[in-house]
Amino acid sequence: RVSGLDALIDMRAETANGLNINLMVNTGLQTDILRSKDSGADGVGLFRTEVPFMMLGRFPSEEEQAKIYRSQLQTFHPRPVTMRTLDIGGDKSLDYFPIVEDNPFLGWRGLRVTLDHPEIFIVQVRAMLRASVGLNNLKIMLPMVTSISEVEDSLQIIHRAVYELNEEGVPVESPDVGVMIEVPSAVYLIKDFANLVDFMSVGSNDLTQYLLAVDRNNPRVADIYDSMHPAVLKALKSIVDECDAANVPLSLCGELAGDPLGAVTLLGLGYRNLSMSSANLLRVKAVLMQIDSGWAQTVSSGLLNLDDPKVIRSTLQLALQKAG
Ligand code: PEP
Ligand code: MG
Repeated sequence: RVSGLDALIDMRAETANGLNINLMVNTGLQTDILRSKDSGADGVGLFRTEVPFMMLGRFPSEEEQAKIYRSQLQTFHPRPVTMRTLDIGGDKSLDYFPIVEDNPFLGWRGLRVTLDHPEIFIVQVRAMLRASVGLNNLKIMLPMVTSISEVEDSLQIIHRAVYELNEEGVPVESPDVGVMIEVPSAVYLIKDFANLVDFMSVGSNDLTQYLLAVDRNNPRVADIYDSMHPAVLKALKSIVDECDAANVPLSLCGELAGDPLGAVTLLGLGYRNLSMSSANLLRVKAVLMQIDSGWAQTVSSGLLNLDDPKVIRSTLQLALQKAG
């Protein structure tokens, strides 16, 4: 970390014209909690719960999960912690639960797996709920959502877990539930999701992969994997406009949020909640604090008219330099 940035830890992330931006962290490993604690984050925008599942070598019990989740909730309390339900498949596999497919990124991934295994899903949700007793800063987020019925089925499981625990005498409250927007179909279903959930969060890593049909981890096509591609930016703009119209809180938790150029673009498109690796948080805060959101809006709408991601990046870079 650049030591000069430490002075920003306790400062609000406010743009030059006084607009408040929520900067949150993405967590996974236990060590991320310690690092994130010192970054002055406004909460956790994405806790990748599959990480502890990968570390353990077997499915963790409800008790074991509750302990892990409790430490996240306690560390950040009263700030919110957004826990994503298990997102395995694709590039994230569990040795003890192998998934072998020709097309893993288009196969059994994320919510598709847990909806087919409600016993895994409900144990995880129960553990999250139990961990949040007395703290109530838990939000639950669903990954790889493709269809409305998946959200309805997931909500049913979550409500069942709340009901069961209350029956057992555990005083859990219904948490906010949100969906990730990271599959192209979801971009077109914002209005429908808005009637069902409390918030949405864009997964720009997968959204880029699926919009551009480019494997996010294949070095051979890495030069065409770019979240600043005009099609991705147009999708990001449409998502924020529809969420604003539906009055649903929106954040973005992909790598784009932790890239200073990406963060400025997102500010200009209308994003007010960004979640990133803690290593990038203060650098992004430093940049956003120097920027006027009206200026960012003008620049970003100009970027939407350009056709090449490299030109988009250099145009933004130049605009930032000119603005000093
Ligand atoms: C994303 O897809 O942008 C995201 C945040 O989730 P993950 O990188 O864990 O797939
Ligand atoms: Mg994803």
